[in-house]
This record gives sequence, structure tokens and C-alpha cells, in this order.
Amino acid sequence: MLIVQKYGGTSVGDIERIQNVAERVVKTVNEGHQVVVVVSAMSGETNKLVGYAEAFTATPVKEEMDMLLSSGERVTASLLSIALNAMGYQATSMSGRRAGIMTDAVHTKARIESIDASSMINALHDGSVVIIAGFQGVNSDGRVTTLGRGGSDLSAVAIAGALHADLCEIYTDVEGIYTTDPRIEPKAKKMEKISYEEMLELASLGAKVLQNRSVELAKKLNVNLVTRSSFSDAEGTLITKEENIMEQALVSGIALDKKQSRISLEGVVDRPGIASDIFIALADKSVNIDMIIQTSGHDGTTSMDFTVSGDELHDAKNIIDTFVANNEVQKASYDEGICKVSIVGVGMKSHTGVAAKAFSTMAKENINILMISTSEIKVSMVIEEKYAELAVRALHDVYELDR
Ligand code: ADP
Ligand code: ASP
Ligand code: MG
Repeated sequence: MLIVQKYGGTSVGDIERIQNVAERVVKTVNEGHQVVVVVSAMSGETNKLVGYAEAFTATPVKEEMDMLLSSGERVTASLLSIALNAMGYQATSMSGRRAGIMTDAVHTKARIESIDASSMINALHDGSVVIIAGFQGVNSDGRVTTLGRGGSDLSAVAIAGALHADLCEIYTDVEGIYTTDPRIEPKAKKMEKISYEEMLELASLGAKVLQNRSVELAKKLNVNLVTRSSFSDAEGTLITKEENIMEQALVSGIALDKKQSRISLEGVVDRPGIASDIFIALADKSVNIDMIIQTSGHDGTTSMDFTVSGDELHDAKNIIDTFVANNEVQKASYDEGICKVSIVGVGMKSHTGVAAKAFSTMAKENINILMISTSEIKVSMVIEEKYAELAVRALHDVYELDR
């Protein structure tokens, strides 16, 4: 088999752990498989590099951030290759460029456009273990790009797709996908399987165990994706098509996103096209908007509340300030002390009362809901951040996810 194994930051967090990964790779090779390894930066490394840049300015040039942050993954890739060589195994490390990963030019959150897999294929034919620095690619100008935080998952899935790998294993510091973050709710249960759709919702709604774009791509390319621990031999969680899952839970998981910020606009001039002007300006700067609530006033103005991811707040603020300066918005305020709690489950499609139960649970805990949004398979609520963990545990309880 051809297996792609991705090891996250904690799994390569120090020299002993890189040695542990090397041993796991060797075991897979000795079982007769071809192995492509994708690695993250050592844990904490990417944040450390961000901190260095932000010591100079809150808004470092994005092209330079990519140059800087991509270095973390290259350190791990070369160290792992050196470790394998020292154990007598043939291995070669590759940057995103050598691995042929071509992206667009949206620095710090680039999209993969194509993969020229020839270098990887040649190295595999030579009998090498191929080790790829995750999270990065190169744009058509030859500049290094990165794929958004957590983007090594995306590298792994994209490479598994390009090489038609039999399996893509994501090794991390928990044993699989749980009903909620096991660090928040120790009673959380590991799932044997989860559908791409549910996993995509959980990941998009804050469960950082997999990057959401990696799940989206895995679904599109039909990649056999397994999440498991690099610290044990426990079987992980298979992410697969809905029809491969026999028992459908009503609610299968709860996600928490603490990185959300709320932007409130008051006294917005109520003219046709104002919403489009505001949101197109934000989209032009690649700011992703999540929930939007508009309430019409009675004095020819309206108010709008919406949420953005915390790391995009700064860009959003710059754009909104222009609307305030042009008198199209009277007042803008920014609230970072909020979070989003979501329940996810395909069973919701065919059952009623699921959302009502979530709202009454919040009421029982005396938690005020600030915003709500729903789709076919999820209910999200924005609440004050101080209630985040309490809300997750209460919801986990009420839907009996520990059973
Ligand atoms: P890596 O560095 O391996 O990429 P991450 O820190 O990105 O690992 O993701 C793993 C973490 O995701 C876990 O330590 C856990 O705290 C968190 N997590 C959040 N939600 C879930 C969930 N539903 N199941 C498992 N882990 C989750
Ligand atoms: N090192 C990058 C990050 O911390 C990418 C990754 O780990 O997947 O976001
Ligand atoms: Mg991760």
C-alpha cells in the first residue's frame, strides 16, 4: 500500500518524539508499504515565529509571514529525514516547492491549485521514504505561501489525493475524533467512524483536530482518512461517507470556537446595496464572515451584527473604519469576549426539537444567547466566552453523548 502519514506539532514536539515518529515510519516501511510523511512544525514553533514578527508590528507583511512560518515545518522534515538516515533507511525531505505544491497567491491562507507529484513519485520509486514539510506551497511567482493555520492536514490530504494513496493517516495527540474536545469534557467518547459532512461541520465550527479545508478536500477526492494517536496503538476514527455509517446519532458532536469576534454596526444608512458594499469590501480582503444578523430600525438606519475569526479582526476593523469615516455607519464596536458553541449531527435532518433542547439547556444554565444560526445538520450559538466550557459540558450531557 501507499500510505500518507501526517504527524502534528505535539507528535514531533522534541527530539525524542521525532525519534518516536521515525520508529513508527520504519515499522510501516518494514510492513512492506511505501510511505510519504507530512510533518508540522514542532509544537509551539509557529506561534513563537508569529510572536517574533509581531514584536515589530501588529500587521506584518503577509508574504514575509509565509517565508517565516514555512521554516518551522522544514526544520521537522529535515530532522526526521536525518533520523531515518541514521537508522539506516533511505529518506529525503522536501519543501512544498520540491513536492510540487502549487497554490494561489493569497498569502497566509493560500489554496492549493495543483500538485506536480513527479519529484515525490521519483523518490518513492528510488525506494525512499518521502518527507514533506506541511502547511506550505509555492505560487506562480515562485513565492512561498502557507495554507492557513492547521494547514499540514490539508497538505497531507492533497498529497494523498495526488498520489492516489490507499490511506491517509493523521497522527495527533488524541486517539481520534471525540464527541467533543476531550480536554474540555473528559467524558467525551471516541467515535469509530464519522461522516465527512459531520466532520466538516465540527472542524469548521472550531474542533481543531482536523483543519476544515482538509476535510472538504478529503470528501471531494474520496480520501480514506483516519485520525489516530502517535503515542499509542489504539485504533483511530475513520472519516468516511455517510452511507458507510450504520447507526446515525441525532447529535454526534459538539464544537467550540473561542477565536470568534463579534462586530456590531449601529446606525447603518438603510439604502439598497449597503450590505453588499460592506460585505464585498470584507470579501475583497479575504475576511471570512460567519453569522450575520440585521435588524431594521425606524429612523432610516439599520444595525448589523456579524462574527469573524479573531485573526481576521484586524483586517475587518480597517475596512469598517472606512465606512464609519464616510458616515455610512455611525458606530462600530468590536467584542472579542465571545465564543461559538455548536451541536452537529446528520440525525437533525429528520428530527425536530433538537435546537429547542439546546436553547433550553442554555436557559437552565443561565447563559444568554447572543446570536443563533442553524443549518440542516448544525445549531450554533454565540455566547459570552466565560461560559464556553460550561455550555459544552451541559450540551454534552443533555444529548447523552457519554453513553
Ligand atoms: P496537531 O498538532 O496534531 O495538528 P491539534 O492541536 O491541531 O493537533 O489538534 C488536536 C487537538 O484537537 C486535541 O488535542 C484536542 O484538544 C482538540 N480537539 C478539539 N475537538 C476535538 C474532538 N472533537 N475530538 C478530538 N480532539 C479534539
Ligand atoms: N504549524 C502550522 C500551525 O501551527 C501548521 C500545522 O501545524 O498544521 O498552524
Ligand atoms: Mg492541527
